[in-house]
Amino acid sequence: QVQHAGGGDYMVFDPKMAVDQREQAELLADLRQAVVRGQLELVYQPKVDARSLQITAAEALLRWHHPKRGMVSPALFIPLAERHGLIGAIGNWVIDDATRQAAAWRALGLRMRVAINISAYQMRQDDLVDRLEAALARHNLQPGRFTCEITESVAMEDTQVTQRSFERLRRAGLHVSIDDFGVGQASLSYLRRLPAAELKIDASFVQDLGTSDDARAIVDAVVKLAHALGLRVVAEGVETARQRDLLVQLGCDELQGFLFAKPMHAAQLAVWAQLADERPPPQAVDFRDSL
Ligand code: C2E
Ligand code: MG
Ligand code: MG
Ligand code: MG
Repeated sequence: QVQHAGGGDYMVFDPKMAVDQREQAELLADLRQAVVRGQLELVYQPKVDARSLQITAAEALLRWHHPKRGMVSPALFIPLAERHGLIGAIGNWVIDDATRQAAAWRALGLRMRVAINISAYQMRQDDLVDRLEAALARHNLQPGRFTCEITESVAMEDTQVTQRSFERLRRAGLHVSIDDFGVGQASLSYLRRLPAAELKIDASFVQDLGTSDDARAIVDAVVKLAHALGLRVVAEGVETARQRDLLVQLGCDELQGFLFAKPMHAAQLAVWAQLADERPPPQAVDFRDSL
């Protein structure tokens, strides 16, 4: 019952929606109102330590409850919001809501980091770090306990403004993560200059791990490179025990995926984190898997 109410169980949008111009315009008009109508929600997916399986962080993922269409996927509405100048307002709402939630969890004694996804548009805004710092200060949160996930493709954008945001994030002491690593135009020398602490291997490599020697070689190389640069490695989209075993073998530091937990409502995550704390590591995966 509870798990079916989980934030991860939403319907994938009808692909026809993406091609129909009129529907697209309608969706855009609705999206303009979504923040003020309170139709947006953040669900949270744990990252766990690869060895202890203890929760290390909770990544905030946006959900849009559309009154007529049901749940609209962020894969659909984030690009729409980016194209039409709505991502600023939505991104600000995410910052406010995730910091509020982080403070609420801390008050419960939960110690994991909270991560949010930062869009390309936000990275180009001069006031991104000011906003983050203000929100963190409002809730009395340490910047180092808060992660900004920035996709590799955005991170590699060599515009001065994006780079300045990176530098400001670092100076403000925020924890920076490079998301979806491996699918973009990674320049390895460039990676060295990025002030990041974490690198997330894209789910596509994780998916192919069991069947493709190439995927395995890539993950192996990425882990070694990241460690040589002092970055922690997280694997996203871990769905099977075999993938988990290979990732641990290859030296991944943290894991995230449906094998451990789907995105959940904040209240559910608090229970999940506290229950997991009481589990001895060997049984923990089976237990979580059945949730
Ligand atoms: P992402 O940041 O790479 O997040 C991972 C996506 O993979 C999420 O999809 C998550 O639900 C899904 N996922 C996690 N584990 C598994 C697994 O084991 N198997 C499979 N098949 N999928 C898994 P979601 O929530 O639909 O989000 C899609 C993308 O939308 C995110 O990719 C992120 O780029 C973007 N997004 C989500 N929330 C926000 C936000 O608040 N702001 C911005 N700018 N982008 C967001
Ligand atoms: Mg992410
Ligand atoms: Mg990702
Ligand atoms: Mg991804």
